[in-house]
Amino acid sequence: MKIINQIYVDGAFIEPHGKETQDLYNPATGEKIGIVHLGDEVDTYLAIEAAKKAFLTFSKSTLQERGEILKRLYDAIMANEDKLNETAVEEYASPISATKGRTHYAAQIFLDTKLAMEGFEFEKQLEHATIVNEPLGVVAAITPWNANYTHICGKLAPAIATGCTIVIKPSEISALQTQILAQCFHQANVPKGVINIVNGTGPIVGTVMTEHPDIAVVTFTGSTQVGRLIGQKAAETMKRVTLELGGKSPNIILEDANLQQAISLALSIGFSNSGQACHAGTRIIVPESRLEEIKTLIIEGVKSIMIGDLWSAESYIGPMVSKKQYDTIQRYIKSGLDQGAEILIGGLGHPEGLGGFYVKPTVFVNVKQDMIIAKEEIFGPVLCIITYKTEDEAIKIANDTIYGLSAYISSENIEKAKKIARQIISGRVLINTAVNRESKSPFGGFKQSGIGRTSWTYGLEEYLEPKVIA
Ligand code: NAD
Repeated sequence: MKIINQIYVDGAFIEPHGKETQDLYNPATGEKIGIVHLGDEVDTYLAIEAAKKAFLTFSKSTLQERGEILKRLYDAIMANEDKLNETAVEEYASPISATKGRTHYAAQIFLDTKLAMEGFEFEKQLEHATIVNEPLGVVAAITPWNANYTHICGKLAPAIATGCTIVIKPSEISALQTQILAQCFHQANVPKGVINIVNGTGPIVGTVMTEHPDIAVVTFTGSTQVGRLIGQKAAETMKRVTLELGGKSPNIILEDANLQQAISLALSIGFSNSGQACHAGTRIIVPESRLEEIKTLIIEGVKSIMIGDLWSAESYIGPMVSKKQYDTIQRYIKSGLDQGAEILIGGLGHPEGLGGFYVKPTVFVNVKQDMIIAKEEIFGPVLCIITYKTEDEAIKIANDTIYGLSAYISSENIEKAKKIARQIISGRVLINTAVNRESKSPFGGFKQSGIGRTSWTYGLEEYLEPKVIA
């Protein structure tokens, strides 16, 4: 049993003042594997105070000093890669190949941000004025459980690059992973108070962070429901907010698509991160004329996906993160059945031979746009097939959502796909691929998928305020 009874404040690991605890589980077995002692209001005030004090000097640091810190953070993560991977498999139960990719990406964010910082125009001389981009102050970062390392590093790197200091509240159910990551940050020898981490719940630690007058920016990744609350609270003291929220991403398969490739891609996009991915393509929008071929390919495809054995490089789907998430997925599958959708493959309960919080990867057909499973973010491996007769109808279905984070198109005709991409309301549209390989592009959502952008120089701008000197 692992006990996490430390938070990281002002460059030191200290015991939290808070007395509440939270149990930690191995999602693959459902067994309790640890306990985290949660911080409270007093701990949060302490962390904000440390970050505020550190800002006085860190905001005056040079680009070279900040570049060196970013490089040291990269090195520290890479030096602890194996430990980070092991902990993520144990506590989050993500299959090893995906886990390795995410840990490596978390480290890479520091190098990418260093490069972005070095090319960024922090000062601009105009004819009659100088524009100076100044760091905003203390950043409050609130992150979810579905990719602990990447979300924390994604919010930390631009803070370092811009000369801001940070208080991080990770998901309370990711404490084992957070502890290893905090040790990496400590090893990177970052000036005291620049990075502070408080384990705790949203309603207690998160609320203080969103209300405290000494916080200048709140950067949040999580559900649209909590994001809405944070936006409202932050407005009281005019904090800047970056909200990376939910999604219900459409994946349009055009009539001319190579179906073997398109369905294989659709399943990897839909079941990405065991379905616990904000960008997952969960609405597969297919031509009615090719439905029967598509159904056959989906059944074959799902049967060939390896579930379980998290340490096998072939494994693609792990369990849900918690019992709560397992129950939520069961409720959504039941609601699909109750509202008249038909299960093509999968269904209620555990996959054969697996316990813990594993669910069956499930694909529904005969799905109507107004069904709950077609409208709400399920955040598990449950996909909907929706048919169209014309391309205009496909675009209409794709845009018929409150979300706009990601979208996908499969087609042999790239020019046509690009024309359709321009008509989709989404932060990104990927054609014939599951991955955007352009590290210099922004990430974020339209509509209720969020406010603001992360990544590259777009992420730096969220933590800076332009000042005019004339
Ligand atoms: P969540 O919204 O329940 O929690 C996210 C974080 O917010 C946690 O740290 C939680 O403790 C905290 N929180 C909860 N209530 C709070 C409050 N009142 N004030 C301040 N903080 C509070 O989300 P989750 O279940 O951890 O993660 C899943 C959600 O995250 C999904 O909706 C998913 O789409 C979204 N997500 C979005 C992106 C993106 O980049 N757009 C990426 C990953 C996950």
